[in-house]
Amino acid sequence: MSSVNFNLPSTWIKFRPSLCEGCSALCCSLPLELDKEDLFRLELISEDELHGSLKKIAKRLQSQKVIKSFRAGTGLFMMAQKMDGSCIFLSDKKKCTVYEKRPRVCREFPKIGPRAGYCPSIKE
Ligand code: SF4
Ligand code: SF4
Repeated sequence: MSSVNFNLPSTWIKFRPSLCEGCSALCCSLPLELDKEDLFRLELISEDELHGSLKKIAKRLQSQKVIKSFRAGTGLFMMAQKMDGSCIFLSDKKKCTVYEKRPRVCREFPKIGPRAGYCPSIKE
C-alpha cells in the first residue's frame, strides 16, 4: 500500500515522468491559482476584460462558479473545484480537458508546488 498522504508533502514521491502513467492525478486536486493571462488563454475572459478591471472579472466568474475567490493584493484568482476537490477541468478519466491551454502553474508542476520536485503520485 502507498504511504503517500496527499495532505502531507513530506510523504510525497520524487517526481519522474514515468510516475504520471496510471496516476490518479492528485496534482489536479491541489489549490489552483491563476492570473488574468491564464484566464484569457482558457477563454474564460475576453480581450477587453484582459485589459480591464480584475475585480469585475472576479465578480462575474465567481457568480458563474468558475472561481472561488480573488486576491486583489496579488491579482490571483483561486479556481473553483468539483465536489471531490478536483479541478473543474479534470475529466472522469483523470485527463486534463484543457491541456493545450492549461494554466502556468500546471505547466510548471512539480517544479513549483507545495514541495518542489515531489508529487502526490498514487497509482489507481
Ligand atoms: S501527481 Fe505527479 S505523477 Fe501524478 S499525474 Fe500529477 S505530476 Fe504526474
Ligand atoms: S487545468 Fe488541467 S492540469 Fe491544471 S489542475 Fe486542472 S485538470 Fe489539472
